Amino acid sequence: MASAPYDQREGFIWLNGTLVPWNDARLHVLTHGLHYASAVFEGMRAYDGEIFKLTEHNQRLHDSAKILDFEIPYSVAELDKAARETLRANKLKDAYIRPIAWRGPEQMGVSAQKTKINVAIAAWDWGSYFDPKAREQGLKLKFADYRRPDPATAPVKSKAAGLYMICTIEKHKAEKAGYADALMLDWRGQIAECTGANIFFVKDGVLHTPTPDCFLDGITRRAVIGLAKHRGLQVIERAIFPEELPSFSECFITGTAAEVTPVSEINGYKFPVGPITKTLMADFTALTHPTKVRAAVGG
Ligand code: PMP
Repeated sequence: MASAPYDQREGFIWLNGTLVPWNDARLHVLTHGLHYASAVFEGMRAYDGEIFKLTEHNQRLHDSAKILDFEIPYSVAELDKAARETLRANKLKDAYIRPIAWRGPEQMGVSAQKTKINVAIAAWDWGSYFDPKAREQGLKLKFADYRRPDPATAPVKSKAAGLYMICTIEKHKAEKAGYADALMLDWRGQIAECTGANIFFVKDGVLHTPTPDCFLDGITRRAVIGLAKHRGLQVIERAIFPEELPSFSECFITGTAAEVTPVSEINGYKFPVGPITKTLMADFTALTHPTKVRAAVGG
């Protein structure tokens, strides 16, 4: 039942140390995290029953919480185990997994020193984040109006719920105008990232990607940089300005949900789904499906 609301599904959710029936994983309306965005989350994917970069994601969850001045009451190793249990309890092999930690209802108002920290992990079947046709044809992106904030004005290195407020607004604007996603500039006017994914460009056979100094240095981004270097491709992390778009020959985005997805257009500038993008899409599929690759090569 792919269209059932997320609070009305079958299965189990890991909530504060135990697996509970899916529809029992509830919280009260006077929860600090809901009112003041004192919440951090992760998104990871399992492929063939293996959670890709599991520990890196749970470590980032811990780091995100620390930045928001709270401590997750489970170790990274405990969260790794809990995520695997959640996957198994729901009999999932290929899935999206969503851990979230938030401040509870013990206190209302901006101060939240006495709130309890809650943690939940849910997993569900979530195929392609974008229309599956996008993998062949590429996504159309529209520039966003809001910008990724200056690190002096927001906790930009935390995967904090509050930072997604402008992402949802911009994603809606893009969708209403017939685009798949919005491309956000940063506070300086440099190209930053999409609403839930990092961006790469190709120029003369070299990869160019914005330096992640005011947005998430994605785990997929880092994996793709590793794959590109393994192929002998040069990767340059630098400030990239929108005026440079005509000089690029390919473009793609990376993220746990988005995986590696080609971009075919940004505000009228067109890109073909080119050979470097196709190579890295295939390399990423191989990286996330090690057992299939081992089987294919007889390992
Ligand atoms: N930027 C934003 C705003 C995101 O939400 C995500 C997805 N977590 C990314 C980048 C990509 O990060 P990752 O590859 O770690 O999923």
